[in-house]
Amino acid sequence: MTTTAASTQEQKLAHALKLDKLAEVAVKVGLGLRAGQELVMTASLDALPLARRITEQAYRAGASLVTTLYSDDEATLMRYHFAPTESFDHAAKWLYDGMGAAFKSGAARLAIAGGNPALLANEDTDKVGRANRAVSQAYRPALELITRHEINWTIVACATPAWAAAMFPEDAPDAAMDKLWEAIFETTRINQQDPVGAWKTHDADLQMRAARLNEKRYAALRYRGPGTDFLLGLADDHVWMGGGTTAGNGLYCIPNMPTEEVFSMPHKERAEGTVTATKPLSHQGTMIEGIQVRFEKGCIVEAHATRGEEVLRKLIDTDEGARRLGEVALVPHSSPIAHSGMLFYNTLFDENAASHIALGQAYTSCVRDGDKLTPEQLAAKGANDSLIHVDWMIGSEKLDIDGITAEETAEPLMRQGEWV
Ligand code: ZN
Ligand code: ZN
Repeated sequence: MTTTAASTQEQKLAHALKLDKLAEVAVKVGLGLRAGQELVMTASLDALPLARRITEQAYRAGASLVTTLYSDDEATLMRYHFAPTESFDHAAKWLYDGMGAAFKSGAARLAIAGGNPALLANEDTDKVGRANRAVSQAYRPALELITRHEINWTIVACATPAWAAAMFPEDAPDAAMDKLWEAIFETTRINQQDPVGAWKTHDADLQMRAARLNEKRYAALRYRGPGTDFLLGLADDHVWMGGGTTAGNGLYCIPNMPTEEVFSMPHKERAEGTVTATKPLSHQGTMIEGIQVRFEKGCIVEAHATRGEEVLRKLIDTDEGARRLGEVALVPHSSPIAHSGMLFYNTLFDENAASHIALGQAYTSCVRDGDKLTPEQLAAKGANDSLIHVDWMIGSEKLDIDGITAEETAEPLMRQGEWV
């Protein structure tokens, strides 16, 4: 055996070990799977190697049944090319109803992210918009169980050739995949000695940040940076959250891996001023760049983008709540993901690289006793309601954020993108 062959062999072994660690962390820390619990997983065919490792880890942790719903990019594109135009308002409602039934009967939910960020970039935006809307409507009852944290769930990423090529267009396919895997392992703490322990420490740190903000009870946040002069009111009785959460079924899960954010609920009628995005937004296969929007009384009254403006307009026209905000999140510029300097074209990573806001649906768990309130009571506190929830990045090393108290005094919260 030559030295090169030996080291290639070693690299393969090291990769397999890390993949297994990632699967273990996803099941034990991310999902907090309970012995005897069912698991419903979604993955693209390109994520098969990780899906299999997670399946093994889930069974080892006592899962009663693991069911994986696989999607295929090629098949998705065939619909856009060959299906009748009038069929794009249709979604597989029976499938989403089935997922909802599984969650209600106690199943946990794991999604493997990592699809081609540009998959639908060249498809008809009208078809894309209609198909997305149909899926949002069909999935809503099941998704609500997730957004209300009634079940334990998590999202973890798998490197795929198309995603790697989008991130590293200059590299050969294998080298691009290696780089993307390394970035995933690094940002999900798999490269650390004891990944499970490292996650526990990190989780405690995020909880502490959220607790401090909850003590402060700011009425609003003020953002100042290049192209941004923005005042964002927080919902009445808002709660800051970060890291893991105890789901309604009593299980502790960390819903996103990686996660670096502390987040809360903005008041849907209290956003004023102009915000400029600091990163492109990859939205369901399309890139939207140079977003700049102006808010009045919580509602977007002007929206521009240097690229993908039409998609942005379709997005904010989805429904009444799509022009209002459902999430506010703070992330220091020194987060490992920001530190990597990479743009992942994937919200799971990019939202953890910068402070952000999200258009659309609010997380009811971000208001005190939110899960016990009726939709009317939630709306009265300022919770936004929409079919969409789309995060976009507004943080950078040039952004300053103040917390505004009920007495209208400003306290510095972040300076040049870092916690004060
Ligand atoms: Zn977020
Ligand atoms: Zn979000």
